[in-house]
Amino acid sequence: MTIFSKIINKEIPATIVYEDDLCLAFKDVNPQAPTHVLLIPKKEIESMAKVQSPEDEKLLGHMMVKASRIADQLGLAKDGYRLVINTNDHGGQTVYHLHIHILGGRQMSWPPG
Ligand code: AMP
Repeated sequence: MTIFSKIINKEIPATIVYEDDLCLAFKDVNPQAPTHVLLIPKKEIESMAKVQSPEDEKLLGHMMVKASRIADQLGLAKDGYRLVINTNDHGGQTVYHLHIHILGGRQMSWPPG
């Protein structure tokens, strides 16, 4: 159980921008871009390293489509944005509840640090 479960259960506040039965999107508390939203599954999945089941396949497909729709609603689609899933130690993951960062509103650089 991580802090994100508490956000799902509304035990701690977050600025929610999208919610459905399977996933929740809210503003990151420490934004790395003018728009920085986290999209998380309501199911507790530690990281991308743990996804495997047909259920997860369906869930992640759902979330990727929702990421596209949320980015559009946030006004990011025209200029573009970046989706990031930090995974485990080398990926720089700090919260072990799978999440998709939706980042936009500025020019991104490559490669990532
Ligand atoms: P990562 O480093 O990829 O695991 O990303 C974790 C993200 O969660 C960071 O960008 C944090 O700023 C963000 N974060 C941590 N706690 C909260 C919270 N209570 N509400 C919103 N975002 C959070």
